[in-house]
Amino acid sequence: MNINILNDLSYGMYIISTKYMNKNVGCFVNTVSQITSENPIISVSINKSNYTNEALNIGNKFAISILSEKTDSQLIGKFGFFSSKDTDKFDGIEYSEICGIPVVTNNICGYLICEVINIIDCETHNIVLARVIDGEKLTDNIPMTYKYYHEVIKGKVPKTAPTYKKEKVEVKNMGKYVCKICGYVYDNSKEEIKFEDLPDSWVCPLCGVPKNMFEKVEE
Ligand code: FE
Repeated sequence: MNINILNDLSYGMYIISTKYMNKNVGCFVNTVSQITSENPIISVSINKSNYTNEALNIGNKFAISILSEKTDSQLIGKFGFFSSKDTDKFDGIEYSEICGIPVVTNNICGYLICEVINIIDCETHNIVLARVIDGEKLTDNIPMTYKYYHEVIKGKVPKTAPTYKKEKVEVKNMGKYVCKICGYVYDNSKEEIKFEDLPDSWVCPLCGVPKNMFEKVEE
């Protein structure tokens, strides 16, 4: 089997969010699909090890923010590479409470409010089926695709994503630094400023951690 053929499946970029134990929780997902048209049902695949998965039980409500090409990429890093268990991902993030649920609103296309109607066990992941009970378009921004995230933002895949594959960081020449949190690679040969010359206030463009969380990739 050529496993790389799976790379040709298309995905979008979404943040799902809800309230759980009186806390705002959420995570990044790339697998939201519309299943039925009338009184629509959507599906979303979520890793069982995600803290947000614990909050998605039958009857519970959650939101889906549809990210756009203008959505701040650090927001994707924050929701993709940290856990709501020990991080308040909503701290410093632009969001609104809608139907009692925190909805990330930073340059998104729009949002859906959904109610869980069924959960299907898929080994490492759960498929959550949910009824769309509300939704709004907020901007005319272009929805961000997974391909755009990889090719334009140079984003990495969180280990909990269904599409995660182990990858080796290319080490063709010296002068590459990799973020220990999200895997973002700063390649001196492709940047105007060398990593060593970046100010201490510089942060990872993907997940927002400080410069000292990067380590040099040795040849
Ligand atoms: Fe990072």
